[in-house]
Formats: sequence, structure tokens, C-alpha cells
Amino acid sequence: MEFKTPIVPQANQRLSADYLRFDSAGAHLVGQRCDVCGTQLFPKTGICPGCQSEQLTDVALPRQGTLYSWSIVHVAPKPWVTPYVIGYVDLPEGVRVFAHIGGDPQTLKIGMPVALYASAVVAHEREPGTPLFTFNPVSAENS
Ligand SMILES: [Zn+2]
Repeated sequence: MEFKTPIVPQANQRLSADYLRFDSAGAHLVGQRCDVCGTQLFPKTGICPGCQSEQLTDVALPRQGTLYSWSIVHVAPKPWVTPYVIGYVDLPEGVRVFAHIGGDPQTLKIGMPVALYASAVVAHEREPGTPLFTFNPVSAENS
């Protein structure tokens, strides 16, 4: 399955290179696939939760998924500045990712298509502008 990537992000300072892979279309989160049973994982672990195999191979995960659930954060530890949105995104083949969610919170709907985008931290007192990856709603013409 092929997904379009909206933009090509810059190098990221928060996620290590172990968790990001770049190609000509943009960035993918990097998870793992079990060589024995095919279960996909994110983040990486040392053992498959499906069959306990330790034979795991890094794989670039699809950029697009669906919004499983989300919440607007109104109370957070410093230096985070509220409000901001967090949520879970279901990627194909069973991977659920906890992430910042971009876009207008008033338009978010459970089950809507979202995709990985490069963004910048705005909800942080000390490090505004730090590169950040968010899952943002995908319009019908981009999906
Ligand atoms: Zn397995």
C-alpha cells in the first residue's frame, strides 16, 4: 500500500534516527516486524509480543493511518504550554502510535484519516520551534 507524504521534514531532534527513516517522499516512523509471525511493533522492542521471538527486523511503517482517539491537554507539566492535542493513531497491520495530533481540534473525528507531518513545537516554553512529528488530518484529495 502506497501513501502520499505531504512534506519532507527536516532532521528531527526529539526522535532518534533509530525511529525515523527518510526517503524521497518524506519520513516514516521505523518499527519492527517479527520474522516468525509477522507481527509489527512500534516502538521497537527486543521481543515479539505475539510469539516471543527475538528475530525482529526494522521496517518503515506506513505514513497514513486512522485516528483511534484523541484528547485536548489542558493541564500539563512545565515547560509544556496548553492546550495541545494528543492521541492514538492506528497504522495498517496493527500498530497503534501515541503522538501529538495536529490540525484544528474542532474538526477531529474518531476514525478520520491522518498522516505523519513535520511540524514544530509551539506548546513548549523553553524550546519553541523544535522539530516535531505530528499526525494531521488528511483531506480526501490527499488520501
Ligand atoms: Zn512474532
